[in-house]
Amino acid sequence: MPSTPTVTGRFAPSPSGPLHAGSLIAAIGSYLSARSQGGRWLLRLEDVDEGRVRPGAADTILRQLEALALDWDGPVQTQSSRKAVYREALVALQAQSMVYPCACTRQEIRDFGEHYPGTCRSGLAPGRQTRSWRLRVPDHLPPWEDRFHGWQPSPAPQYDPVLLRADGYFAYILACVVDDGEHGVSEVIRGGDLLALTAVQRYLQSTLNLPHPQYGHLPLLCDADGRKLSKSADSPAWTGSPSQAWEETLRLLGWTTPAGLHGASALEWRDWACTRMAVEQPLYGTAPLACTSRQR
Ligand code: GLU
Repeated sequence: MPSTPTVTGRFAPSPSGPLHAGSLIAAIGSYLSARSQGGRWLLRLEDVDEGRVRPGAADTILRQLEALALDWDGPVQTQSSRKAVYREALVALQAQSMVYPCACTRQEIRDFGEHYPGTCRSGLAPGRQTRSWRLRVPDHLPPWEDRFHGWQPSPAPQYDPVLLRADGYFAYILACVVDDGEHGVSEVIRGGDLLALTAVQRYLQSTLNLPHPQYGHLPLLCDADGRKLSKSADSPAWTGSPSQAWEETLRLLGWTTPAGLHGASALEWRDWACTRMAVEQPLYGTAPLACTSRQR
């Protein structure tokens, strides 16, 4: 009988645009990590913020992953179809007073400066109406260990993030934690821009009695001006050949790639990289988390 995989990884792009060269680091990195351990690799389209979804982007992402020979397990999950599940989680948090209603408008929040100062934490001012729901984050969050960057110290007090927005959409932070929990995700390998959010996501897991996956954050790719590539900021889609994409991505992760594989098919690259990782190659070890520019 085949043994049940113990590792479940995932790739969770937002369909706010096609994958760019930076997204490939998270796609290929999370794939290699899960598959080299004999694990499952799930694909989730994070379209919870429906206003940011670009028509056709979801389809393009699937085609790009297929071209790279990154095969996922089971059906593609979409967050827009799971609102009832997120609502259930919010109701559970409401029942334990882990969340509170917030009446602040966008303008008021802008006026507060960088972070929401907890204005509605101890109750709504008379006559104010609930606009959103926020997570009540304690002042001290425990340290946690990143697979590539080691122990992350307790962060300075975090502002209370919105879980249900004024426009009725659930926030990414809640949807992601609920989905990872429900789909049995045991490792989250993703872009370094989300490292700072992890302590709060872990806290949310604890409040919802969900297990903590292992987290590992990979380097970000920046443009020539040092700005992180991002789908929503219209960074150019990855358009090169699959072989080039594999070669370049592995190099960005610090791998030395054999000249003999230059121009090989995506399938050959994938199988070579999985085998290598299963034997001796760390996915990513020494390079800093900060933006890495593409070398040309
Ligand atoms: N949806 C996020 C993105 O496209 C990734 C979220 C995650 O991996 O937790 O950047």
